[in-house]
Amino acid sequence: MLKKYCLYILRWQLSTPILYGVIWLLTGHINAIWITIIANFIGALIFFWVDKFIFRNRRSRNPLWEIKEGVSCHDCGVISKGYRIVEWQGYSRIDDKEPEYRCKDCSAKKLLQVEKLLQYGTKL
Ligand SMILES: [Zn+2]
Repeated sequence: MLKKYCLYILRWQLSTPILYGVIWLLTGHINAIWITIIANFIGALIFFWVDKFIFRNRRSRNPLWEIKEGVSCHDCGVISKGYRIVEWQGYSRIDDKEPEYRCKDCSAKKLLQVEKLLQYGTKL
């Protein structure tokens, strides 16, 4: 968080040359309010992308799985190696008190369901 904060402070300093350049070019030609509006407009065009980079989500794009030997599949009941998605972007089952394990086939179907829910932004 501190690293991000320092990066953000540095990012604000990067807008200084833009502000300075616009003020230097336009002072004496147009009103101070218009100079400020133009400088902020140019800044916004550039720093939208910089801010997006600073505040990007570093969460893994791949799901975190837990695999357990010899469990009963929650969906079909077969006893086999069980899989469950523990965490994936907005989906979290870290504190699940009754974790559901699935066989290889059923976990593949569950993966598609979760993927669809994440894609449509449904709160899980
Ligand atoms: Zn199954």
